[in-house]
Formats: sequence, C-alpha cells, structure tokens
Amino acid sequence: MNIKLYELREDEKPALAEVMARIGAGDARVGGDARMAGDAQVAGGTQVAGDEPVGTGAASRVGDAAKPGAAPQASDAPKRGAALQTCAAPSDITIDAVPDELGIENVASAQGFDAVVISGRSAMTAEVLDRLAELGVKYLATRTVGVDHIDVAHAHELGLRVCNTGYPPEGVAEFAVMLMLIVLRRYKPTLWRQQVNDYSLGGLEGRELGRLTVGIVGTGRIGQQVARILGGFGSKVLGYDPYPSDAARAAGIEYVPLEELYRRSDVVTLHVPLTEENRGMVDAEAINQMRDGVVLVNVSRGELIDVAAVTSAIEFEKIGALAMDVFADEGGIYHESRVNDIIRNRDMAYLRQFPNVVLTPHMAFYTDTNVNSMVEQGVRGVIAMAEGPGSWASEV
Ligand code: NAD
Repeated sequence: MNIKLYELREDEKPALAEVMARIGAGDARVGGDARMAGDAQVAGGTQVAGDEPVGTGAASRVGDAAKPGAAPQASDAPKRGAALQTCAAPSDITIDAVPDELGIENVASAQGFDAVVISGRSAMTAEVLDRLAELGVKYLATRTVGVDHIDVAHAHELGLRVCNTGYPPEGVAEFAVMLMLIVLRRYKPTLWRQQVNDYSLGGLEGRELGRLTVGIVGTGRIGQQVARILGGFGSKVLGYDPYPSDAARAAGIEYVPLEELYRRSDVVTLHVPLTEENRGMVDAEAINQMRDGVVLVNVSRGELIDVAAVTSAIEFEKIGALAMDVFADEGGIYHESRVNDIIRNRDMAYLRQFPNVVLTPHMAFYTDTNVNSMVEQGVRGVIAMAEGPGSWASEV
C-alpha cells in the first residue's frame, strides 16, 4: 500500500518514525529529507517497498485488551515506545510525507497512492474528492477528531472510505477546564498588569469553579472527560445531548433540557461537532436564555457560535467571559506565524482586545500523547480500512 501523508509538522516526525518501525513499513520519505524507516534505498524519488513484512493479523498489540480495529480508549493513551492498536497490515507499505496541505491545486500529487492521510487544514471538497477518486485513491484518513473539513457524504458516494482520529479526550478536556479557570480567575488582565509592574488586585476578584454549575453541551468523549475533571473540583455538572448515555451519567452529568442547562449554568462549555444543524447554535436566542454574566467556553469549532451575537453579548456584558480555542475562518491564521502580515479577521481582532475574552490558537489537542496518537491512527486507519468494511472503529 502506498500512503501519501500531508501536512506533516516537524513535531510529528518522531511519531511517524515510530509508527513506521512498529508496523514494519518498508520505507518512508519525508518531503525530500532522509528516510525514516526501512532498509530500502530511495532513488530519484521512487518509493521502494521494504522487505520486512508485518504479516496479516500479527501486528503489534496493546496488552491483552487490544482487539483489531478497536478505537483506543482513554486507558490506551499512547506513549512513545508503546504499541497502540492491533491491525493486520499488508507487507508492502510506503509512506511519502510532505508538509503541504492537500487541495485542488496540488491534488495531482496524490497520483500513484492508494491512501492519503491529511490533517485539519486540507479541505476535502467534492471537487478534490472527485479528483482523488479519479487518481485511484481509495482511503482517506484525517489526523483530527472533527471531520467538518471533509465532504464525507460525497466521499461515500465515490466509494472513498474515510476515517478520523479518536485520540484520547483528556488533553482537550484539560484544556477546556484550564480556560474556565483562566477566565474565572481573571488571569489575562493579571498578566497584562504584571508586564508593567502593576500588582494591584482591584477588579481581579475571581470565582471558584467548584462552587459553580457547569453546563456541558455535547456529552461525548470530551464532554464526559470534562465532567470527570469537574467532579474533582466539586462543581455541579449539567449536560445536554440528543443522545444521552449512561457513561455520561456515570461521569457525573445530570441531563437536563438545553433551555434548562442555559438557564442554570454559570459556565457553558461546548463539546459538539460542527454540522450544518449545529452551525451558529449559540445565537442571540440561545444567549438570551443564559444567565447574566455567563462564562462561555468553546474548544470545539468556531462556527458553532454566531460571532456577531456573542460579540454584542460581550459588549453589553450579558456574557461575563468568553474563552475560545477555535474561531470562524481561523484557517491560514492559527498554526501559522503571521507577525508581519495584515490579518483579515475583524471579529478575531476585535474580540481579542477584551480583558474577559481569551482566545487560543486551536491548540487544545496539542499534547505529546495526542500528536503520537494522531499520526499512528492516521497511518493505521488507512491500512486497517483496506482489510474490509468494519475493520476500523474510527471509520466515518
Ligand atoms: P464525540 O462524537 O465523542 O461527542 C460529540 C457529542 O456531541 C455526541 O454525544 C453528540 O450526540 C453530541 N451532539 C451533537 N450535536 C449536538 C447538539 N446540537 N447539542 C448537544 N449535543 C450534541 O466528539 P468528541 O470527541 O467529544 O469531540 C467533540 C468536538 O470537539 C469534535 O467534533 C471537534 O470539533 C472538537 N475538538 C476540538 C479539538 C481542539 O483541539 N480544539 C480537539 C478535538 C476535538
């Protein structure tokens, strides 16, 4: 199997080398750099499959609990040097990894590959997917949890199999709780003051998370983990999800209707995927149902909020604090250095000025554990999908 991996970051290279070694892949090229695994020589850019077959069904295991195609659970949190999921891998695997995003302008670069592995900045529109299918690509993996950058329905129409990443939820959940604490304890204005030796306390009085009610909208993997962490603080935890689960109840979540969650929560935190239905779900009507001075946290997707309504609610102090790790139209801004550029995102620039608004550049996922897991699952996902339907739990 020939795999083309796009959007490779520097920090992902060690993880890729480990994955290659673990699956026994023959060869990986990294954007013209030295090869990372396997013995075969790469001449003139030709991919050469190695001679160290993995065998079918005999790949590495994660302890006794591992089973083929099972998405990793929290306890499977990947660590460097530890094997992750079992997957039966074909013997000939090559990986060509490049830093470029995949888009319509360079889609021809996927020619000759059975599978492509992308991250969140490669927009898989219908047009790109059509070209990929024409080029013979059969499998597509994203190293992200969200799949809103992929037209999944169109991929299915083309017979293209797609999977996402189910990296452990702890890192994102911890980040969400950290954002709650940062705004509740007014760390942003405190930091500003320290830069000019102002150590006064006026206006910096905080609130204690453990005495507050937190409403979790979306009680999936990350929402549940947020609830578990909040349990340690002693917070009252409410939840809303169209698909309530016993696992979420066991995590300490009391399910209530959405209107009640908005009415009772001091902190509202969003953990839902971006879908057409959910786009702009936090609009003026939703905000009006919330408590005065509510703290709103969004580490999911920027487009879940109606930015005009939220900005207005900040201006009129309906929203007491806002913390967002994501932003509408963040592409081309977040994860880039734009120090010398004129950035065209007025909403982002305007919101950033407020002492009670904390914006972070889509980094909740960014931990050592998750980086390893994203690379590992991206590569293993496409290999496992090739084994047939139902062979990989993270297929979407
Ligand atoms: P998940 O699929 O486990 O859980 C999502 C839950 O949301 C599901 O239970 C679903 O039923 C529920 N849901 C859907 N629409 C809803 C609605 N309108 N109201 C209430 N609940 C609704 O997903 P997850 O792993 O918990 O991830 C959630 C989202 O977090 C992802 O889709 C992604 O966009 C985002 N995310 C962000 C980062 C980051 O770095 N900032 C990292 C990972 C994931």
